[in-house]
Amino acid sequence: MYNHLDTDTTIIAPATVAGGAVMVVRLSGNRAIDIADGLFRGKKPLRNCEGYTLHYGRIVDESERTIDDVVVALFRAPHSYTGDDTVEITLHGSEYITSELLRLAINRGAKMAMPGEFTRRAFLAGKMDLSRAEAVADIIASDSMWSHNVASTQMRGGYSERLTSLRDELLRLCSLLELELDFSEEDVEFADRTTLRTTLDAIGSQIEQLTSSFALGKALKNGVNVAIVGKPNVGKSTLLNALVEEDRAMVSDIAGTTRDTIEATTTINGVRYRFVDTAGIHTTADKLEQMGIDRTHRAIANASIVIHLTTADNPTFDAVEDSDTQHHIRVVNKIDTTPAPATLSPDTLCISAKSGIGIEALRERLAATIDTSKLGTGSVVVSNMRHYAALREAYTALTSARTAMDNGLPSDLLSEDIRRVVHYLGEITGEITSDDILHSIFSHFCIGK
Ligand code: GDP
Repeated sequence: MYNHLDTDTTIIAPATVAGGAVMVVRLSGNRAIDIADGLFRGKKPLRNCEGYTLHYGRIVDESERTIDDVVVALFRAPHSYTGDDTVEITLHGSEYITSELLRLAINRGAKMAMPGEFTRRAFLAGKMDLSRAEAVADIIASDSMWSHNVASTQMRGGYSERLTSLRDELLRLCSLLELELDFSEEDVEFADRTTLRTTLDAIGSQIEQLTSSFALGKALKNGVNVAIVGKPNVGKSTLLNALVEEDRAMVSDIAGTTRDTIEATTTINGVRYRFVDTAGIHTTADKLEQMGIDRTHRAIANASIVIHLTTADNPTFDAVEDSDTQHHIRVVNKIDTTPAPATLSPDTLCISAKSGIGIEALRERLAATIDTSKLGTGSVVVSNMRHYAALREAYTALTSARTAMDNGLPSDLLSEDIRRVVHYLGEITGEITSDDILHSIFSHFCIGK
């Protein structure tokens, strides 16, 4: 395997998945144009063409046999996604044609790209910072209005700009503090302590605001897990079908039919909800059923929302309360056959999964758990675990800087803490980075991204 840190290599990979009418294969690196000219027969060689141009022609093999008619897009360094010369070849969506093209290019010296390598090169060439590069993967994976919105804000750099300005401010403070060291004999304060304290507090509250947006950001990006739990036959599968409006779960009259967990998703107000219809929690001697019940416990542990379902003839609920991480919604089903008892607590919803009564109210209740009202297009929300962890570290370092100030510690110790804050903020945008971090980020990308 070649060393993927060596950005001199010219890399190649399909940028689209097989099965469509056309495929795009991307070739990028110092030799991209030269390699492409070896395979491509157009009006004139690509080496004589300008960047940002399209060229119609043929791909030929070693014996000049035509493999396909193609359109080539030419990007010249540094004006390309990766910053290197890049050729994007649009060909007919045949696996044979694609593999022939890859083979021919590899014979001429191109190497198959590693996962995420195009984006990694874009980052290393300074075309985008790390948080923007990560957003490329998120935007491709986005499946709802809000997951798209969060990723697209991050990709356009709204988030990076905010972090960079915080970092710049902190670096300015550090240099003032460090200047004091040079004049330590004279006991001067270049960084006015009151202003310094106010600035640190302001930055602290900005970091706090970002970290506290993580729960929402995670929900918007990944969707919200909802577990539907209740005794066998209360109507969990029927409810799941009603919520997602399609026949995904198996509905039957035999108690315990839903042995396994069944998943289906739906979008409410631009947010993705992932429902898990569980096996229900009851005691059983059936081994297979017990496995389903174990999965139910796991589904509940992973859920942000738990819908507790009972029927009107037995409307009892386990005593569970909302927590920071989990909402509970109590629902009485089958009110079409048995009227709901008057003794229910006011927050209990009465529905008929079968006839559709109350389903809309339940969807509204689900939507109300995710507060997007304060978010506009372009709002900065943290949705990435790595960023969240770095922000937490930054906040800890900031707290220790504030304590250092309160205790009147000397400026060198103070500036050391502030530099740690700078370090962690820089980890997010990639000013500070290690090969391990880059590897763990880009190895999760697909090949061709
Ligand atoms: P689960 O075991 O909790 O998943 O329950 P199912 O969804 O399989 O439903 C069990 C039975 O109750 C099926 O015969 C459903 O048709 C029926 N059922 C579900 N919801 C309702 C409802 O709202 N009203 C009535 N009358 N029957 C329902």
